[in-house]
Amino acid sequence: MLDLNKIGSAEAGQLQQAQDRGQLSHAYLLLAGDEAEALNTAYWLICYANCEGENKPDGTCPACQRILSGNHPDVMLIDTEENRQTIAIDQVRTLKQELAKSPAEGDRRYFVINHAQKLTLPAANALLNLLEEPVAPVVTFLIASNGGQILPTIRSRTQIINFSQQPASSRESLLLENGMTQAEVDQIKDSSQVDQAVKYFYQELQEHDPLAIVSAHQLAALVKKQKQGTKAWEKYVWILLKKWAEKELTAGNVQQAAAFLADLLQIDQMRQSNVGFLNNLDYLALKWQQ
Ligand SMILES: [Zn+2]
Repeated sequence: MLDLNKIGSAEAGQLQQAQDRGQLSHAYLLLAGDEAEALNTAYWLICYANCEGENKPDGTCPACQRILSGNHPDVMLIDTEENRQTIAIDQVRTLKQELAKSPAEGDRRYFVINHAQKLTLPAANALLNLLEEPVAPVVTFLIASNGGQILPTIRSRTQIINFSQQPASSRESLLLENGMTQAEVDQIKDSSQVDQAVKYFYQELQEHDPLAIVSAHQLAALVKKQKQGTKAWEKYVWILLKKWAEKELTAGNVQQAAAFLADLLQIDQMRQSNVGFLNNLDYLALKWQQ
């Protein structure tokens, strides 16, 4: 059941801002431990963009109601069907046919793919073509709990939104516990772009993806672009990488996580001998390529 009250509010805000500025991407990958929350958030945005009421999205006007009940011609939901564990290629082909149609009511159409990790390989590849050639005004939302289960080629064609799992206050204490000063923590503001870049980089390393070297450079450029506190941001990136590895450790992926943590220790030493941030990221990317 869709529920516009059970959304990720920060993430909905991010999408709302993009919509208001006319800057929605053509494809999003919404990653959330609670997939229902991500699905609700996608529908929240779709209702927001189509709502006919004053307090958008009200969830009660005719447009919202048709969207939420699955009866809006511009909104397509693909999900695992009953008696099936996967999303098959014929379901994605349906989307392809839909892609040729113009929006019936609004200025664009919306495709929502729930449980995107259940796409079969042929279905994922068919989707790839669809994401490659967004000829029609379409916004696609892919919903999944774990980005590692999504083909890297799909991930790279989407804008990834990670739903936050912890409140800001506990994040602050986490950073303080990991060696940042209060002054440095105060410099870390609006970190969602960096958070996403770090997570993406980490996933590529774990998958031995040669593109990690490109992401290393993008991440370094992103850190350089921050208005203040480059050193604080660099520290922040290393803490995030360590947290990801620790998470993996508790998830039972012991060998790989331990190897990664050992590399981070190595990098700690290299940082103390003034090896630059990008060089250290490169070191990781090259080491994990094999
Ligand atoms: Zn409405």
